Amino acid sequence: MRKSVVAIVGRPNVGKSTIFNRLVGERISIVEDTPGVTRDRIYAESEWLHTNFNLIDTGGIDISDEPLIVQVREQAEVAIEEADVIIFLANGREGITAADEEVAKILYKSNKPVVLAVNKIDNYEMQDLLYEFYSLGFGQPFPISGTHGLGLGDLLDEVIKHFPEQDEIEEDDDRIYFSLIGRPNVGKSSLVNSLLGEERVIVSNIAGTTKDAIDTNFTKDDRDFTIIDTAGMRKRGKIYESTEKYSVLRALKAIERSDVVLVVIDADTGIIEQDKKIAGYAHDAGKAIVIVVNKWDAVEKSQDTMKEFEDEVRQQFQFLSYAPIVFLSAKTKKRIHTLLPMVVEVSENHSKRVRTNLLNEVIEDALAINPTPSIKGQKLKILYTTQVATKPPTFVVFVNDPELMHFTYERFLENRIREAFGFVGTPIKIYARQRK
Ligand code: GDP
Ligand code: GDP
Repeated sequence: MRKSVVAIVGRPNVGKSTIFNRLVGERISIVEDTPGVTRDRIYAESEWLHTNFNLIDTGGIDISDEPLIVQVREQAEVAIEEADVIIFLANGREGITAADEEVAKILYKSNKPVVLAVNKIDNYEMQDLLYEFYSLGFGQPFPISGTHGLGLGDLLDEVIKHFPEQDEIEEDDDRIYFSLIGRPNVGKSSLVNSLLGEERVIVSNIAGTTKDAIDTNFTKDDRDFTIIDTAGMRKRGKIYESTEKYSVLRALKAIERSDVVLVVIDADTGIIEQDKKIAGYAHDAGKAIVIVVNKWDAVEKSQDTMKEFEDEVRQQFQFLSYAPIVFLSAKTKKRIHTLLPMVVEVSENHSKRVRTNLLNEVIEDALAINPTPSIKGQKLKILYTTQVATKPPTFVVFVNDPELMHFTYERFLENRIREAFGFVGTPIKIYARQRK
């Protein structure tokens, strides 16, 4: 099921980032008195009345070297493009400014639902400040206070009323949903074209599943695949393209709907910080991952080049030690044919379920090789292990006291499980729980 997306829009300093943090429930972005301060995260999950949704802080889409009006305009455009519902945030203490009117003008033209919130209404006496905001033309303004957490419930009640009906289409279980992520120009679109141009690939339809995402369905050798969100790879405006935060946003939306994520890097330019950040999101989301080193044709090679590059990838992406690496060229199509079999393999591992008795045999053997540690004279006892979920495979180890499960021992168990069951390409999660 696709989660609805809510974007917060408004000129600098109205409190977007403060509200974002409130709604997300953690202090994850930096709030300062300086307008245009860079934020770490601009996209996060939130929940209201058991409805999960994703929230975008458009203020974090950093184009701060542009004039104010250009900034707010671009941020509003991103919101219109990405969100199902827009929270238009204004500052009650300052009244309506020219920049607010600029934002309003852009939002009128979209057909997305807009909920107007007036921030910094910190107490009841300030309610009178609200009236002028009716003139913005978005109906009743909701008074809120980010610093005091007031009015957010009423605001969210209104926001979720506007969520679109969920698609009737059930996602079918055998189909593999995958996406290609990576910074601009690593070759994602070229790779998609090469994949679709392969022999025996039959593109069945290119379906607009949502207004802003276009999925490509295809079949190869009786397996169904969907490439998610190639729309995100279409060329758009200059600012969309050049904004790192924007490409991260696109990637996050695609990752969420994928079983398998292809992390594409450019062999020609090498690995940069942004590649790691993008890959980190896929890892955090618990998706199966293949690292694709594209443009291998453009690299001058000697005997050791591939090994050296592989070492470099392993070094830079230590958190992806489980992910296989494929070297290929979208341009010459060299080794393109190895990619889909890899996607199938990691996807199968991602949804693999192992039998409890076999699992417990593996754990017993592991205990025999490397007995459980003691902390302050207390010895960890492992009683029983079971797989509780797939996508990614998740294991619960029942123990005498979870505090005694050191992460190095957990890592050891993970390695034994991987050796025994071959979970190539998928993260696995292990939780220690006390046996009741
Ligand atoms: P953004 O630029 O729109 O993301 O605004 P920020 O969230 O960075 O907030 C700008 C400033 O307004 C910060 O100093 C916040 O502490 C302050 N602020 C945010 N919400 C409120 C509020 O409800 N009341 C008051 N008095 N100040 C607030
Ligand atoms: P995207 O922004 O990640 O979708 O990247 P594109 O697919 O638009 O590719 C960016 C540029 O890299 C284009 O000029 C492509 O022709 C070039 N490119 C893509 N794949 C390869 C490759 O395998 N080898 C070489 N040499 N160039 C490539």
